[in-house]
Amino acid sequence: MAWRDVMCGELRDEDAGRRITVAGWADTRRDHGGLVFVDLRDHTGKLQLVINPERSAGAARTAHEIRNEFVLQATGEVTARAPDAVNPDLPTGQIEVQVDELRILSRSSPLPFQLDEENVDETLRLRYRWLDMRTERMQRNLRLNHTAIAAIRNVMDERGFVDVWTPSMTRGTPEGARDFLLPVRLQPGKFYALAQSPQLFKQLCMVGGIDRYYQICTCWRDEDLRADRQFEFRQLDLEMAFVEREDVLDVMEACVVGAFEAAGREPPERPFPRLSYADAMLRYGSDKPDLRFEMEIQDATEVTRDSEFGVFKNAACVRYVVVPRTFSRSEQTRLEDVAKEWGAKGLANLTQISKFLSGRELEAFGVPEGSTALFVADEEDVVARVLGLLRVHLGRELGLIDADADVFHWILEFPLFEHSEEFGGWTFMHHPFTAAMFGEEEQIEADPAHVRGQHYDLIWNGWELGSGSIRIHEAPVQQAVFRVMGLNEEEQRDKFGFLLDALEMGAPPHGGFAMGIDRFIAQLAREPDIRQVTAFPKIASGSDPLTGAPTPYPDSALRELGIRLTDPQPE
Ligand code: ASP
Repeated sequence: MAWRDVMCGELRDEDAGRRITVAGWADTRRDHGGLVFVDLRDHTGKLQLVINPERSAGAARTAHEIRNEFVLQATGEVTARAPDAVNPDLPTGQIEVQVDELRILSRSSPLPFQLDEENVDETLRLRYRWLDMRTERMQRNLRLNHTAIAAIRNVMDERGFVDVWTPSMTRGTPEGARDFLLPVRLQPGKFYALAQSPQLFKQLCMVGGIDRYYQICTCWRDEDLRADRQFEFRQLDLEMAFVEREDVLDVMEACVVGAFEAAGREPPERPFPRLSYADAMLRYGSDKPDLRFEMEIQDATEVTRDSEFGVFKNAACVRYVVVPRTFSRSEQTRLEDVAKEWGAKGLANLTQISKFLSGRELEAFGVPEGSTALFVADEEDVVARVLGLLRVHLGRELGLIDADADVFHWILEFPLFEHSEEFGGWTFMHHPFTAAMFGEEEQIEADPAHVRGQHYDLIWNGWELGSGSIRIHEAPVQQAVFRVMGLNEEEQRDKFGFLLDALEMGAPPHGGFAMGIDRFIAQLAREPDIRQVTAFPKIASGSDPLTGAPTPYPDSALRELGIRLTDPQPE
């Protein structure tokens, strides 16, 4: 006999009279003297079972043993509920099942939390994730995950992309994070790195003639865990040969729209707006601006050059935001404090400094009645960062953000290099394989500070969903980038010899993209972090509350790997 012949949430009033078998979890049990009511639940919904001792004495005996989350199987007749018992909030609320046979298939020990409990501690939810997964929220999120990924695979398939599996165990891949290392028993003292991304393998696929590669791949990066970051995460990773930037953006937009449509959501309009990196930093103080609200940053550097106000006159850069409200003294002080935490020397309110400013300056700022202009004067990067953070902070605090909006946009034309405080030289902004903008190749070595890359990021409501670029496909250009990064010929060969060899054997022009799938799904599910759309995530300490990993290993196992710990094993 089948375990069930219908799902709990499927039955409607027209099913009255049917004899059915259902199976699922006991969501609640209500004992009304003789009659017992059980809400039986599976992922499709809930169904009311009525166990009446007059109909089946055996079922009634069993019903008294039932506790929440027992797994049950029931056979009986679907009947219409009495009019006063109809539950309009439940899709199955018109009917119930008069049970003839009831079996407990599995019991449950007392629960660490109830499924309908609010604000359950997250570590507890993750420790008992199998319970948490039964909640409507997790069922919805994990199924949305599947729906969106299936839609994306569909788009890839229609466009002729080939799913190629690439290794997780590889050499370090430079994506800007620390590598997770994997000792190798057969070669003690040597390590694989877990791939931070399949970047070089997908480029090699292009050299290998695959010409449209994709993968929903797992990537590993040893970084602090955050709302949008786990040690391991999935990317929609793609690469295309003989393409230009617009071809790559077009495919990515199609994937986003395909996933929205599959999820039954109004898709964003295409093409997504584009913004240069320079513009984004100037107007929003961020390379991933949240464009659900305006409050653009204004530049006042020119107009304050000869200011009487020394703080403005002597600063390399002066910018401000106009906030559509006024602030009390204490609110202003609080804002100043946060600005200082972000690295500003101060935060000037126009009303307080206007007596130092000329008529020309005041006229240039043109602040409407009831609004406040807040200024930061400092080096350009500090001004941009602080006003960028302030803009988002105030956008949230003052409720300027439309939580239902979905604003996608591209950031283009990033600098190819950035200066590294850490080792005092140039490092890559995206990764070292990004091509310079057309016509700027000559500047790679001549003027690394100003050369721009064919690098693009996709942003959704202020979250960076992913990055991509057109790649370097000529070995001499690749070597020029390596030189700027301070790698001599020998180091280049040692680390990237295989790539240089491949670029020397007929590499087509190519480019690609990678989108963080978990970030995408979290946003699609309107969840605040990616843990809510990940079946088994880790917590901020880097632990997995469910299995208790990471764990120490016995010395004998480590010895086999050629590893000796300098500190004693933690408990
Ligand atoms: N490998 C890059 C990343 O993981 C994406 C790309 O350039 O395609 O961010």
